Amino acid sequence: MLKADVAVIGAGAAGLSLAHRLSGEVPGALTPSVVLVDAPPGPLRPGPRTWCFWESGRGRFDAAVRSQWHRLRVRPPSGPAVDADITPLRYKMIRSDDFESLVSRDLRDSPNVRRLEAAVDAVEEVPAGAHVLMTAAGGRSRTLAARWVFDSRPLGSLPAARTTLLQHFHGWFVRTARPAFDPGTAELMDFRTPQPASGLSFGYILPTGPHEALVEYTEFSPHVLTADGYETALRHYTADVLHLGDVEILATETGVIPMTDAPVPRRVGSSVFRIGAAGGATRPSTGYTFAGLQRQTRAVAAALRQGRRPVPPAAHSVRARTMDAVLLRALATGRVDGPDLFCRLFTRVPAPRLLRFLDGRTNLFEDLAVGRHAPAGPMLRSAAELPGLPRRAT
Ligand SMILES: Cc1cc2nc3c(=O)[nH]c(=O)nc-3n(C[C@H](O)[C@H](O)[C@H](O)COP(=O)(O)OP(=O)(O)OC[C@H]3O[C@@H](n4cnc5c(N)ncnc54)[C@H](O)[C@@H]3O)c2cc1C
Repeated sequence: MLKADVAVIGAGAAGLSLAHRLSGEVPGALTPSVVLVDAPPGPLRPGPRTWCFWESGRGRFDAAVRSQWHRLRVRPPSGPAVDADITPLRYKMIRSDDFESLVSRDLRDSPNVRRLEAAVDAVEEVPAGAHVLMTAAGGRSRTLAARWVFDSRPLGSLPAARTTLLQHFHGWFVRTARPAFDPGTAELMDFRTPQPASGLSFGYILPTGPHEALVEYTEFSPHVLTADGYETALRHYTADVLHLGDVEILATETGVIPMTDAPVPRRVGSSVFRIGAAGGATRPSTGYTFAGLQRQTRAVAAALRQGRRPVPPAAHSVRARTMDAVLLRALATGRVDGPDLFCRLFTRVPAPRLLRFLDGRTNLFEDLAVGRHAPAGPMLRSAAELPGLPRRAT
């Protein structure tokens, strides 16, 4: 039987980040032995993804940052765009392949972290730890005994919620014949897309040069589209809204991120915890997860290094999750006009403060200052009805 102090299940954003933070020695701190288990290539492994987040100054994973922007743009359905300089913050883009390469290179030099390719079938608690039951190459069963287990495998189903919307999107990495993009500005929300009957839609543009960008069509709505539906929406957006002209599609990206007010349990047993998206790191109102899972894995690694009980902290405060529950309800019921609300926030709240708000790093007074730009009636009605609504499985 394999043994380690720490088993990390899943080598996505959360698993890799935690293993990276635990790799190597830190003077005066413990150096736990770590086994990082990831599914073999195949259906359990997600495809390449693009992760964006914002921070000021240099970051731990800067070597994997492909592009970064200090200007963000939001476009209302009609009328002029709203541009915001977010200095001292930077909106950073990391491609998951680059992240994987960077972390893998560092882990190769790390004597206390070992990697294993196997599909985890179950995790069983035993006295003073847990057993991770796996199927390795060739169908061989293996067991890893660990004092602590951090599981980032996606949840099989979503926990019961009052409101669940899906943030679902499809994107093209495009090359255009003529210069079509402003490489200094990331376009977060372009609401010139036709709005769906329920929820909202927008375009999202991450330009990496005048001729190259990731262009996505995104919806916050109850149901995903068919492949044809995304194709049609993106063709319309790139041709009829952006007027890109001749476009070469270099690669594509598709995703679904649940936006839910369900409490996501992080503690599965006394030695077994969930981290990452599976551990509630997704901010319900935006779908951003990368920054939240960095906060979580940083805290877990610090606790392990100091010999403390490494319970992952909530990535978002109770206040942030409560505000998000109200916003999700207001959007899902159609009580608020999503494009109008997001444009209003970007117009009226200084962008660095809005981004700190979205990261849950604002104080109560700043939150109230942001909140007063939301339409009071629909938000209060949504807040008032929440306690009486049952939580339903989706
Ligand atoms: C296309 C896309 C784009 C996104 N863009 C952003 C963004 O710009 N900004 C942002 O903040 N968030 C973004 N997100 C949300 C979130 O950051 C990502 O989903 C992120 O990958 C979550 O990291 P994770 O480690 O929790 O899960 P994952 O990265 O999905 O990792 C889960 C890991 O578990 C492994 N696994 C699964 N089953 C098993 C098993 N049985 N045994 C062993 N291993 C297993 C998988 O191989 C995988 O490595 C995006 C999501 C998607 C899908």
